[in-house]
Amino acid sequence: MTNRISHWIDGKNWAGVAQRTGEVFDPATGEVRARVDFAGDGQIAEAVAAAATAFPGWRDTSLAARTTIMFAFRELLAARKDELAAIVTSEHGKVLSDAGGEVQRALENVEYACGAPQLLKGGYSENASRGVDVYSMPQPLGVVGVISPFNFPAMVPLWFIPNAIASGNTVVLKPSEKDPSAANFIAELFAEAGLPSGVLNVLHGDKEAVDGLLTHPDVKAISFVGSTPIARYVYETGTAAGKRVQALGGAKNHMVVLPDADLDLAADAAVSAGFGSAGERCMAVSVVVAVDPVGDELVSKVTERMTKLRVGDGRSPESEMGPLVTAAHRERVTSYLDAGVEAGASLVVDGRGVTGGEGGFWLGPTLFDHVEPGMSVYADEIFGPVLCVLRASSYDAALELVNANPYGNGTAIFTNDGGASRRFQNEVEVGMVGVNVPIPVPVSYYSFGGWKNSLFGDSHAYGPEGFHFFTRTKVVTSRWLDPSHGGVNLGFPRNV
Ligand code: NAD
Repeated sequence: MTNRISHWIDGKNWAGVAQRTGEVFDPATGEVRARVDFAGDGQIAEAVAAAATAFPGWRDTSLAARTTIMFAFRELLAARKDELAAIVTSEHGKVLSDAGGEVQRALENVEYACGAPQLLKGGYSENASRGVDVYSMPQPLGVVGVISPFNFPAMVPLWFIPNAIASGNTVVLKPSEKDPSAANFIAELFAEAGLPSGVLNVLHGDKEAVDGLLTHPDVKAISFVGSTPIARYVYETGTAAGKRVQALGGAKNHMVVLPDADLDLAADAAVSAGFGSAGERCMAVSVVVAVDPVGDELVSKVTERMTKLRVGDGRSPESEMGPLVTAAHRERVTSYLDAGVEAGASLVVDGRGVTGGEGGFWLGPTLFDHVEPGMSVYADEIFGPVLCVLRASSYDAALELVNANPYGNGTAIFTNDGGASRRFQNEVEVGMVGVNVPIPVPVSYYSFGGWKNSLFGDSHAYGPEGFHFFTRTKVVTSRWLDPSHGGVNLGFPRNV
């Protein structure tokens, strides 16, 4: 019998019968490993109601008690991180070491949220006017929705959940339907850590569940991560319904290699960041911009490294790159190989025909050279193991290319010239920049977010901006009885 994955509402598994379900695959074998329930109106209402009911009690739970639960969750997650990584690998396909890295980065966000008492301090001004004190306090919003993509089924939910609940909100998480089990594992671990029922709920499903959260009057804010068209839709629909929304979208990340760069380091970085997680990372390097004259040498070094990559089942320690997440996604990615050739790019390494075993959704590392901006392999986010090399005549031409791209998530420059790197970090229109670092994902005490079509809204994810997003500030102006302040005065209050 196929396993069933269902909603986690009010501290327990949902016991009803779903009208619609979806298949969850093991990408390395192609087999259906489970079916996941899809939420309809009834379950959306149930999950939001559970979160709304839990909110007043959770908001008024002391900072000390909330933090104790966060520390307990941190201990449980650290102790069981390998289990969570194995769940990620079994449904996403990424290799175990990579899934372990994902869980480690998630853990760092939990640790940040353990500092909530420090982060939730307000300000206080004594005697702002004579005998009048003014103080501010960040308060939670209420029920918040978190909608996450398939490519980081543990880390992206944990970009938001720890900060949201540590600051007193209650949460309905709608994870990707492609790899839903990590979300339930996280919810059960939170329950074990002592989180009261209803504070964190998991609602599985597709567009219907997302639309339900976007329009529900009791949902006050939405944190979304996914592709750009859906991020834009979520931002527009959620804000039209009066909600606070941060919607992180897709990417096309350029790695600029200047002529003075260490080309071995650059080639290692391009291959690691291009093909790690089979290119299914929003911070993957998908474009290398080789500044003349290094193109030919760099392409040859990248090719040499790519052909040695071991593609296989993510559970095997031998494998360096796993399969793609579904057959449909593999077909979509593969279609770009023909499109690139037809448009005139040179297909240097063709990943078709590479297999990591029977039945899985395989596509090997693929390299295009002499790509031009008008080609679809450059214009579209492919989100697979396909790396494109463009040639640029100068630093300025490379910069112009990066800045003309509608995405602005991540970028990197490889050079030994501090002045050039300093100019790049100043001039580039991208939210996260690496200097000789190909995947510049900020640590948990900074915040994560791209610019332009990679983020809709004005708050980045996690870190200080995460706490800012999940709270609203109230300012109190207070005076205690003082006989000198008697009498009626219709003038606008002056501070004296
Ligand atoms: P996706 O946009 O297909 O799905 C994301 C979420 O939206 C899922 O929960 C899905 O169920 C839901 N969804 C899908 N179609 C919808 C629709 N029509 N209406 C409402 N909701 C819908 O993205 P994905 O394929 O799961 O993830 C990959 C994408 O996410 C890539 O574009 C990647 O760049 C992006 N991503 C961005 C970041 C970032 O921080 N900027 C991080 C990770 C992934």
